[in-house]
Amino acid sequence: MSAVTINPRIRGFICLSAHPEGCAANVQRQVELAKKDGPGSGIGTALVVGSSAGYGLSSLITAVFGYGAKALSVCFERPGNGEKTASAGWYNLAEAHRLAKAAGRQLETINGDAFSIPIKEQAVAALKARFGKIDLLIYSLASPKRTDPATGTTHSSVLKPIGPPYESKTINLDTDQIAPITIQPATDVDIENTVKVMGGDDWRMWVEALRAADLLAPGFRTVAYSYIGPQLTHAIYRAGTIGRAKDHLESTARAMDQELSKSLGGHAWVSVNKALVTQASSAIPVVPLYISLLYKVMKAKGTHEGTVEQMLRLFRTHIGPGKQPTLDADGRIRIDDREMAKDVQDAVAKVWTDVTSENLMAVSDYAGFKREFRSLFGFEMPGIDYQTPTEVERPL
Ligand code: NAD
Repeated sequence: MSAVTINPRIRGFICLSAHPEGCAANVQRQVELAKKDGPGSGIGTALVVGSSAGYGLSSLITAVFGYGAKALSVCFERPGNGEKTASAGWYNLAEAHRLAKAAGRQLETINGDAFSIPIKEQAVAALKARFGKIDLLIYSLASPKRTDPATGTTHSSVLKPIGPPYESKTINLDTDQIAPITIQPATDVDIENTVKVMGGDDWRMWVEALRAADLLAPGFRTVAYSYIGPQLTHAIYRAGTIGRAKDHLESTARAMDQELSKSLGGHAWVSVNKALVTQASSAIPVVPLYISLLYKVMKAKGTHEGTVEQMLRLFRTHIGPGKQPTLDADGRIRIDDREMAKDVQDAVAKVWTDVTSENLMAVSDYAGFKREFRSLFGFEMPGIDYQTPTEVERPL
């Protein structure tokens, strides 16, 4: 165990270090908001798969601190070791655990590959031993690869258009310059692989594993997250490989919803969320530029939300205790409504044509994007003294 001074080590959309106090500050802010917004009770037991960052972390915080849930959380994070920092998600959950304990709430985490059978078995064993049947399963994984336990094959997802090559512009996150980008189309194998990783297969396997162990409470609800987005990103996102995976996730929700409502009075839904800076979204070409323009417009309009504000609204108006969600024509919950508002999209599309490396800072919230990206790893958080050495090894 040794204390070290931790600096950001950023390469493009990857940050190799994380700051424990900075990550803790992020979690504390979310917990405060959840305590204020939620009723403090109403959800019995929750399981959150993909619980350590982004939408999953905010869902966990909302369930535990906003609705008093006992929660089991599953993530895939790296602990600190010697002078090497843990991953941000590890520090996020370390703080969530500390705060849950202080508040007398039951929170446990399993750290390992959620796609695998052994991790599902561990979760089932933990639930049987210490939690009982679950009322809510949030499925919020974002991963570049998945080993299918049925075949042993490892599939890698890709972010590619389907059909003609995609030509657009993007920000080089290392040089802060806008550059043209051409992405060659996916092959059929690319599409299949992406659906295997980010589609609904594994979500269904979780529900089946819980059902087989008799761990689904009457009225059980499960929600996974999707994205649609604007015309600008359509070819690379919703009409691309990742969009095919989201189509699969959404059809899995519709099929499971029918099954669950018959057998348990339960539900499976997909919630279409807003585009936000997370580790997963920063890796998608074009999306950082779109988010920078979107944030500028939505912040000016006063309609900007972060992951926790989105999740609090999801629980408050759609999936919380006693709520019945409003669904779109395809059976999806839509909390991307403020992003997709016509005036917002018109304003983004207008600036999109004119944005250059020279006017980027003036016409977009790229500064906000960068700040938020660093804050995902606990950097540039107000009130944190980054000069003081800190302990990198933290217990979960
Ligand atoms: P994220 O990168 O912030 O978090 C991903 C989570 O998945 C982490 O907790 C990580 O530990 C976990 N994880 C990854 N691989 C794992 C594995 N093998 N086993 C266990 N845990 C694993 O991602 P995010 O942006 O919050 O995305 C979550 C979901 O929300 C995705 O389905 C994404 O498509 C969707 N979504 C994201 C956005 C956005 O703009 N960020 C918008 C709409 C929908």
